[in-house]
Amino acid sequence: MGEESNGLLTIERDESARRKCPSCSEENKNMIHESTDKTNIINDYPRLYGKKYRCGRCGQEWREK
Ligand SMILES: [Zn+2]
Repeated sequence: MGEESNGLLTIERDESARRKCPSCSEENKNMIHESTDKTNIINDYPRLYGKKYRCGRCGQEWREK
């Protein structure tokens, strides 16, 4: 787990567990908002971006590797 200057956490995805907030452990998927992370280009052509997640409870943002 590493913290970056923009406040976005990068966490290891645990495929066996439900996605949850790394800050407050919220795991209700209705509270976890997925969006496109335009700063994280994972493929140039076709252009593909990574995903990032934001917790609706505490506001923490993170992405998974
Ligand atoms: Zn949270």
